[in-house]
Amino acid sequence: MISAIHFIIQIRMSASVILCQQRDSEAVAMSPPVVIHWFRKGLRLHDNPALLKAVDYATQSGYHLRPVFILDPQFTRSGRVGANRWRFLVGALSDLDSSLQLLGSRLLVCRGSPETVLPKLIREWDVRRITFETDTEPYAVARDARVAQLARELSCAVTSVTSHTLYEPAQVLAANGGKPPLTYQRMVTLVEQLGAPVAAEPAPRSLPPPGQPAGHFSVPSLAELGVDAEQLGEELYPGGETEGLARLERSLARPDWVCRFEKPKTAPNSLQPSTTVLSPYVKFGCVSARLFYHRLADVYSRRGNYTRPPVSLHGQLLWREFFYVVGANTPNFDRMEGNAICRQIPWIENEEFLKAWSEGRTGYPWIDAVMTQLRQEGWIHHLARHAVACFLTRGDLFISWEHGMKVFDELLLDADWSLNAANWMWLSASAFFHQFFRVYSPVAFGKKTDPNGDYIKKYLPKLRKYPSQYIYEPWKAPIATQKAAGCIVGRDYPKPIVDHDKVRPRNIEWMAAAYKKGKAAHPAPAAGLGADSQDGKGHSGSAASSKSQKRSTQSNSKSPSKKTRSKK
Ligand code: FAD
Repeated sequence: MISAIHFIIQIRMSASVILCQQRDSEAVAMSPPVVIHWFRKGLRLHDNPALLKAVDYATQSGYHLRPVFILDPQFTRSGRVGANRWRFLVGALSDLDSSLQLLGSRLLVCRGSPETVLPKLIREWDVRRITFETDTEPYAVARDARVAQLARELSCAVTSVTSHTLYEPAQVLAANGGKPPLTYQRMVTLVEQLGAPVAAEPAPRSLPPPGQPAGHFSVPSLAELGVDAEQLGEELYPGGETEGLARLERSLARPDWVCRFEKPKTAPNSLQPSTTVLSPYVKFGCVSARLFYHRLADVYSRRGNYTRPPVSLHGQLLWREFFYVVGANTPNFDRMEGNAICRQIPWIENEEFLKAWSEGRTGYPWIDAVMTQLRQEGWIHHLARHAVACFLTRGDLFISWEHGMKVFDELLLDADWSLNAANWMWLSASAFFHQFFRVYSPVAFGKKTDPNGDYIKKYLPKLRKYPSQYIYEPWKAPIATQKAAGCIVGRDYPKPIVDHDKVRPRNIEWMAAAYKKGKAAHPAPAAGLGADSQDGKGHSGSAASSKSQKRSTQSNSKSPSKKTRSKK
């Protein structure tokens, strides 16, 4: 079977001839009407059914097809996108432009709000149809509704097709009686009923010509986006479909690893990632989730023996699917207030602690190393996300998950509206997961997979001369050891901003009180929200019994071990 990457390479080799022929003939032709395919996420040629529809319309009508991306000031001016993610986007757009050029087309990058840019293009180019991939984020839903209305007023048809998720979110909703599933297990049951997702579509083999529109449509430089390239570190995960598909192939080339994959057993602090790091590519749609799913299924079927959800790689894609369905159907999903599935917890406002956490200055090396990796590289392992999210919220600082989500939203390459909010609610025990008394230790958690502290030494080089014995708790090292290591705690590296052993029991009490209050205010609704507990035993959404709270608290006081590790 020809792999997707092989297929793209084939297209690239044969397409340059078509490009020259088309450009020659267009120089003399009158400009026909236009079909626009609007790229937003879905920055790929493979499995892009909306693009294929645009190709069909344009081919059948003899129209030009113009692939457009719009740089929306909503994002460029908001400061919500960090430098690493801009670099990834620029890479993804350049790669897309190259692939389109090899098919005789090109990417036209426009600047401005879509509501202004598209009506202008419709008039200037005589656009008869716009196609795009459906997006379920609230901002996108509202934007797309406005754009569709404006297009209709100008007699331009609009076609949108779902291809960002494995299933149509509405299909999952309908299968669940019109409500989003609220447990992962329920999601798995629904997916079993629905059957495998539809197959990924192949990339188009050729594209109708774009014509030669007048204007400035080049892929933006980093400088245009306000990013100082000098300040960026090594580009570990270059953006784009070509790179994403190659990365997918590299994972699939290890069938034993794929078939034995158990997420909780992967290490959060290995020096090379222990999971696929396909998330930025899936987030931007450089790699289709359906292609990912079906390629894994091929590997599974060849081996016969493989792990299952929730821990398998298929299981990871189902977590994504689950959170997408819930996110798309829960008002105010990205905030606590007005969010029907979110526990109302009186979090503390503490600007200084929030800043220390986000800048990797908590005085807990494991937490600070993770936050440093996030800031430098834009990707951190799932369990590392667990550690720092728990620390910021219910574990130590008792700061709202909304603040943590915003920091992740800026710094992650894979920042994704639904997944970020859902996982933050999970980790803060605000929704989905309710065993708030199971708290990760900021000392013991990392030690389990990296007793030497090599990961800490990599990201916090000032601690690299610390003996392993003290690397997770440098404040406990005798002053002579600190001096010998060339790093005095309190001077060269911060003292812990809180004492974990003191704040943990306090926070558990506060959480218990908030849960109790929530239960009194809403005795029934929380039930059934939390059957995906970390131990898989399925506690309901209400607070666990005081007996089990006590037992778990005690057992976790020294080590996060199995009890605090999620099955996710
Ligand atoms: P793999 O283990 O290789 O999984 C394959 C794919 O499955 C991923 O690429 C991703 O698309 C999906 N996936 C895996 N785990 C999850 C999960 N728990 N939830 C949803 N989808 C998942 N993931 C994001 O993509 N964007 C986010 O903004 C995001 N924010 C998070 C915030 C917190 C607090 C936490 C705890 C997790 C968050 N995650 C987020 C989920 C998860 O950590 C990442 O998807 C995963 O670490 C990406 O690495 P990978 O591609 O190697 O994953």
